[in-house]
Amino acid sequence: YLLALPGRVRVAVRLRPRNAEELVADSDFADCVELQSELKRLKLRKNNWDSDTYEFDEVLTEFASQKRVYEVVAKPVVESVLEGYNGTIMAYGQTGTGKTFTLGRLGEEDTAARGIMVRSMEDILSDISPENDSISVSYLQLYMETIQDLLVPGNDKIAIVEDPKTGDVSVPGATLVEIRDQRSFVDLLRLGEAHRFAANTKLNTESSRSHAILMVHVRRSVKPRHEREASISSLDNGTSSPLVKSLRPPIVRKSKLVVVDLAGSERIDKSGSEGHTLEEAKSINLSLSALGKCINALAENSPHVPFRDSKLTRLLRDSFGGTARTSLVITIGPSPRHRGETASTIMFGQRAM
Ligand code: ADP
Ligand code: MG
Repeated sequence: YLLALPGRVRVAVRLRPRNAEELVADSDFADCVELQSELKRLKLRKNNWDSDTYEFDEVLTEFASQKRVYEVVAKPVVESVLEGYNGTIMAYGQTGTGKTFTLGRLGEEDTAARGIMVRSMEDILSDISPENDSISVSYLQLYMETIQDLLVPGNDKIAIVEDPKTGDVSVPGATLVEIRDQRSFVDLLRLGEAHRFAANTKLNTESSRSHAILMVHVRRSVKPRHEREASISSLDNGTSSPLVKSLRPPIVRKSKLVVVDLAGSERIDKSGSEGHTLEEAKSINLSLSALGKCINALAENSPHVPFRDSKLTRLLRDSFGGTARTSLVITIGPSPRHRGETASTIMFGQRAM
């Protein structure tokens, strides 16, 4: 399992199996990668006799179950969010390699298929106490440096505000929905997906061009320490003291989990693109390269992490590095035809380590 240590980003790589088309078209060719999951190594084929070897925190083969992927990539982050720290889980990779499969599958017809968002909420709901704690979520899309609300379509009056004293990032204007049970959360995710599809159809773009960002806010009431001690000592001497309890208000502990289904990392051919496609390409390149720079800065323990460079990194500022736990899953496909894109995804992951 990825250790939930603060500081650098933990990186897992996940390979998706060949799809039907690749099984036919590439049947004479080997996969462009070879995974050695016990050694946590991946070999990227250079030619028939030579390959480069890379190490990751976890290497997930095409046989890794959704459950295993959750436990490796997400669970340590979710557990630390429940303890009061912020956390981020991100999927990075070329379109069609399994980012949404990994994060967003609802698994209604087949519970084994549930992705990281659904499984995270299950663990959160089973840990909290409904009387003392509350869970609320917002669901956003970031497209060409504009934030859209996936829960209330048309609401684009969403700002990113950073509290200069605490460093906390908030998104005033974003719809926040309280979650009481798993059913309503899955309904909300489905609604968000439908709104995302509709918004992108209207803009004549694809969801692979935008980032989908789920924010889960956790508020827990924690007993002050001296009160916990008082109740222990009252057990000792048998004199329980309800007055002490009523004098001390509970401490509210806030934390958040951010799950980001990133825009496709493929290079968009600039020469052939026109109109807003070129603008889209620039904007995706801007936010993904800003993210890459922040990840590198954390990996190098640099005192300056350039969060300011894009809306994506400004949003993540308080749930990334420092005391926050961050987990990145890079998704790749096996096809030798996409070796170039696969290599650049692997390099993005390597720079985080
Ligand atoms: P992305 O979000 O990165 O564009 P998707 O998650 O939509 O990619 O996956 C593309 C296709 O590949 C989908 O049909 C999906 O069901 C399939 N797929 C992705 N990962 C896996 C996997 N690990 N096992 C089986 N099928 C997968
Ligand atoms: Mg997707």
